[in-house]
Amino acid sequence: MATIPENIQQLRARMAVVCEQASRPVHSVTLLVVTKTFPAEDVRAAHAAGETRFGENYVQEGLDKIAALADLRSQIEWHMIGPLQSNKTRPVAEQFDWVHSVDRLKIAQRLSDQRPDHLPALQLCLQVNISGEASKSGLTPEELPEVAQAVAALPRVTLRGLMSIPEPADTLEAQRAPHRRLAELLQQLQAQGLALDTLSMGMSGDLEAAILEGSTLVRVGSAIFGQRQRPAST
Ligand SMILES: *Cc1c(COP(=O)(O)O)cnc(C)c1O
Repeated sequence: MATIPENIQQLRARMAVVCEQASRPVHSVTLLVVTKTFPAEDVRAAHAAGETRFGENYVQEGLDKIAALADLRSQIEWHMIGPLQSNKTRPVAEQFDWVHSVDRLKIAQRLSDQRPDHLPALQLCLQVNISGEASKSGLTPEELPEVAQAVAALPRVTLRGLMSIPEPADTLEAQRAPHRRLAELLQQLQAQGLALDTLSMGMSGDLEAAILEGSTLVRVGSAIFGQRQRPAST
């Protein structure tokens, strides 16, 4: 089996190919390394290979890894990307740098209230349920403008953009459609005066489609660490 550094190298090459196709500079797409279910030692290996941004889905697992890697804290950006319940916001506000999975105003209000004063503002994305699946969390496109304006006005958080997890699709064209829709929603919010710069979209299976549609941040786990042993979400 390939090693973590080899997989990262391969993934970076894959990203470079599609950036070239899209006539985009490689540095216009950030790689968020998704480490859920993988041990802190794997994070350390990815960090040693040059990666500095890591994403976790489960609050407690994320906190455990942040503690295990405390020696690297100043060199790492920690991103919460999983569903967040309102009774779990405090440790996230205190320990993470970003939250991609904000799906209602109340969560953003709590994160803003609970963000310690000595830290920079917490960076937020609003999660959009772009495929309209009843089982998926996220704001509907209709709810989005009002929530975005309210979140942008909160003092201790900075709204950066939008995130989505579209339904899996087989063809590149089918994968591109929901990413294009999210990019359009971002443009609409920008036209309403919000200074947003982040489209968090694309994972191991659809990052080409996402980058072609303007993704600025891809969230990649299995292409780096292999298949996960336990389910991807709870
Ligand atoms: C697990 C997960 C990823 C990474 O998925 P892979 O297919 O392993 O690359 C990205 N985003 C979110 C929200 C996830 O839960």
